[in-house]
Amino acid sequence: MSVSRPTKPRTRVVHAGRHPGDYHGVVNPPVYHASTILKPTMAERAAGQSAPPPNYKQGQQPAMFYGRGGTPTTFAFEEAVCLLYDAHDVVAVPSGLAAITVGLLATLKAGDHLLMTDTTYFPTRKFCDQVLAGFGIETTYYDPRVGAGIAELLRDNTRVVYTESPGSLSFELQDIPAIAEAAHARDVAVMMDNTWGTPLYCRPFELGVDIVNEAVTKYIGGHSDVMMGMIASTERYANAVRTAARLHGHYVAPDELYLAQRGLRTLGVRLKQCEETGLTLARWLENRPEIAAVLHPGLESHPDHALWKRDFSGASGLFSVVLKPVPEAAYAAFVDGLEIFGMGASWGGFESLVKPGNPKAERTATSWPHDGPLLRIHAGLEDVDDLIADLEAGFDRLNAICRTAA
Ligand SMILES: *Cc1c(COP(=O)(O)O)cnc(C)c1O
Repeated sequence: MSVSRPTKPRTRVVHAGRHPGDYHGVVNPPVYHASTILKPTMAERAAGQSAPPPNYKQGQQPAMFYGRGGTPTTFAFEEAVCLLYDAHDVVAVPSGLAAITVGLLATLKAGDHLLMTDTTYFPTRKFCDQVLAGFGIETTYYDPRVGAGIAELLRDNTRVVYTESPGSLSFELQDIPAIAEAAHARDVAVMMDNTWGTPLYCRPFELGVDIVNEAVTKYIGGHSDVMMGMIASTERYANAVRTAARLHGHYVAPDELYLAQRGLRTLGVRLKQCEETGLTLARWLENRPEIAAVLHPGLESHPDHALWKRDFSGASGLFSVVLKPVPEAAYAAFVDGLEIFGMGASWGGFESLVKPGNPKAERTATSWPHDGPLLRIHAGLEDVDDLIADLEAGFDRLNAICRTAA
């Protein structure tokens, strides 16, 4: 895209990374299936091998030498997200989890220490405990609400403070600028999982983050049919991250990249609708007698609402509710009978989902204050009246069983 004026993120979502003029005017990028990429002469082969690192912001794509290193299909997606994030570089990897592991392995080595938020996406925790520990990298879990207090947890060998805001099960927000200030004073890198906020609702680099990872699987893909992740970095970490992704052998297939860039084009409107529906559901649930707490940062009742207002420009459609304690059979009757909400992992697609969660079992540095069951809700693109009717019927089933049990 070449527009002479600076553009807003919602415009960039639509145009960034597309170059119709290079492809006969075709609006979307071509899908290149490639392993071998031929070079006509020794000189051109050598030029490719000594090409400078990519700089998407200056229109400089990575050199093409072999399918694993990417093709214009790869670069179209990476450039789009890079411009959207205002990052120095973005590299696509095969899953959101790969984005997390590549970012950590690009910055940590044996003997280093990692500070990990206690409310992190659970597979991140398993990676720290089961893989990093074996490499001689020690992880300390910290309270997500530690803020500037992170300074007291930094050790001489701490290399990375990893954040996820909000936690994608229990929705605590982190004071990222305070954490970044303390970390940078000791030359420690700050990573952030920004899957919830996306580049449209959170600008992590402006908050002081060095490396951002996002599960493209969720909102950017948006249609529950793509697995992908991306890592965005500042100039300082760009080369280490891209090199780590390549040397770990990560590669994203062209059809997946195509679907991801197609999903990206409608992110603005989808996210807006998910936000509106999510907030309507959250407010309705707040008034239900069966509910002990609604964990949605966009609600005034959320303990971190002020941080959300300061650091985010919107809320996605993912939040949780905690029910008052009920017999297991009543909770099951509520969930099993839902007709529009599906039960399943992932989120960010067009459809509404619920997923039972157990935050008590997924934390070690903080305690969980609730006794009743937690249900994570993703607000999709259906009519909100139908979603409310589905939940209302669920509460009727739940109450009927509670009455018989009493
Ligand atoms: C789903 C998710 C991931 C991992 O993404 P995958 O593509 O499923 O590997 C990482 N972080 C968060 C917050 C997620 O919700």
